[in-house]
Amino acid sequence: MLTYISADYVYPVVAAPIACGVLAMDEEGTIAAVLTPEEASAGGITDIVRYEGLLVPGFVNTHCHLELSNLKGEIPRYTGLPAFVQEVIKLRSSDEYAINLAMLKADVEMFDNGIVAVGDISNQAVSAGIKAGSPLYYHTFLELLGFNPDTAKLSMERALEFINKFLPLKASIVPHAPYSVSPELFAELKAYGDAVQGLSSMHNQETTDENSFFRDKTGAFLDLFKFLGLNIEFFKPSGKTSLQTVLPQLSARQKLLLVHNVFTSAEDIKFAEAVHPDLYWCLCPNANLYIENRLPDVGLLRDAGLKITLGTDSLASNDVLSIFAEMQTLQLHFDVSVDDLLKWATYNGAEFLEITDRYGSLEAGKKPGINLLEYKDVEGELVLGDRMRRLF
Ligand SMILES: [Zn+2]
Repeated sequence: MLTYISADYVYPVVAAPIACGVLAMDEEGTIAAVLTPEEASAGGITDIVRYEGLLVPGFVNTHCHLELSNLKGEIPRYTGLPAFVQEVIKLRSSDEYAINLAMLKADVEMFDNGIVAVGDISNQAVSAGIKAGSPLYYHTFLELLGFNPDTAKLSMERALEFINKFLPLKASIVPHAPYSVSPELFAELKAYGDAVQGLSSMHNQETTDENSFFRDKTGAFLDLFKFLGLNIEFFKPSGKTSLQTVLPQLSARQKLLLVHNVFTSAEDIKFAEAVHPDLYWCLCPNANLYIENRLPDVGLLRDAGLKITLGTDSLASNDVLSIFAEMQTLQLHFDVSVDDLLKWATYNGAEFLEITDRYGSLEAGKKPGINLLEYKDVEGELVLGDRMRRLF
């Protein structure tokens, strides 16, 4: 038996919004049809549940760190990234009960906030059980760090064993960030990426210090290495930005998600597009405000025609795991349309995670989750309101 629901606008995302559109759904939440009001009335459909708002697909969170959920509220705002990383290292606990409880809450919070799929960074296997039991789709990015060239081979060997702990869910081995991975470890990751292909992800240009470190070996990362007790005398600055230095060292045979992009310039974008054929650009604006009180040049990224996705980052640098909250922040600070925001929040993330057969759009045959969003009409332009609710 089919259920019919309608709202002021239905957003298939892969097609134009439909005023008073009607979704036909089976008991499992699979969409049987997306109808115009005329099609619904021609089909004699009258038993329709009507909502005020926008009906949109479930959200895809392409960047989270579930295993940092227990650090919620522990690190002060505006420390800057190098100091934030130090705090995360200091505060990481081995209290498995506390970590598990926090992860479980975070998973439920994401579900309630209309998130259906997550790209999740992991440094340990502690999240594997929660992911396996969750109604959310998870792709784990097992993240490697290691600026000491001598440990590169061993790190990769360990990761190849470790990744099996996430089976049967999808997982890939990925670099953490340009400043935390040695050229030797990048080479290991490239060989792996060329062989397995699939997906990769890397934190990119989250702070201006990242560019300073690669340009001329200055900035706050020197303090971080001192804190880590790592002698980096061997490191020679490239004179280029971090992205321009390391991107050629990554496999071009993998899809790559660049996360944050707060200090990414037009030149960086041009360079990256020329070097890598399959890039996605993830924005985590609330985490950027939390850590650096800065935001990426979203207009620049959008106007360059990049494939943009959204992420919450972890609860260590965010008050809430909500893609809707990230969309609201972007709407507040930039001139972006609801159409663009929705594409970033749903379809682009699903395309990156290779799950568009089920998620990312409202289309017959998919079971993408359905959210109802409040909206306002501001002088004829549709903008997001303050609240949302997960319907399916
Ligand atoms: Zn992150």
